[in-house]
Amino acid sequence: MTRKFTERRILIATHNAGKLEEMEQLFAPLGVSVVGAAEMGLDEPDETETTFIGNARIKARAAVAATGLPALADDSGIEVEALNGAPGVYTADWAETPNGRDFIMAMTKTHTLLEEANAPHPRRARFCATLVLAWPDGHDEVFEGTVNGTLVWPMRGTVGHGYDPMFQPDGHDITFAEMDFAQKNAISHRADAFAKLIAGCFDG
Ligand code: IMP
Repeated sequence: MTRKFTERRILIATHNAGKLEEMEQLFAPLGVSVVGAAEMGLDEPDETETTFIGNARIKARAAVAATGLPALADDSGIEVEALNGAPGVYTADWAETPNGRDFIMAMTKTHTLLEEANAPHPRRARFCATLVLAWPDGHDEVFEGTVNGTLVWPMRGTVGHGYDPMFQPDGHDITFAEMDFAQKNAISHRADAFAKLIAGCFDG
């Protein structure tokens, strides 16, 4: 049985202003106010686990320990079938440069590896998002969202972030980066995980 969330305030364990705003909109109709990690002066813990759940749990637990508030954390990335699930939890790492993140570089690396491996088409991939909601008494609930699709090359589109320009979700002939915000948010891995969180911890 999934534990219901009955508190009035939730800490969102992210330093990303976009994610925080997205959560604010999600929780407003539920009468839950959100507070962000930066606002609470929290550090970003090292993501030392090898799974999305493990890393989301590290972030959620660190935030609970520092504040005593229930906290929600997420971790996400893209898994490419012909690369045995890489980059996966290392999606952001593949984009790291001394001057910040470069996703064109990360996507080019992904495409080059697929070419070198002579990977057949369609090149299947999925975006994954994991949410961990952690309470101060040690309990937590985990929700996983996915969206399946294929990788295209060259990249197409300018909307969005990360790997969006090379990911074409199943049932569509445009990439995430060619969709507007609302269209992507209706089908994204994060939307899927959010819907499961709401159904599990808030409804009924
Ligand atoms: P994190 O969940 O903030 O650690 O981010 C993991 C990485 O996965 C991000 O830096 C993005 O590059 C990538 N990623 C996660 N979700 C998406 C998405 O919806 N579109 C494109 N890239 C994404």
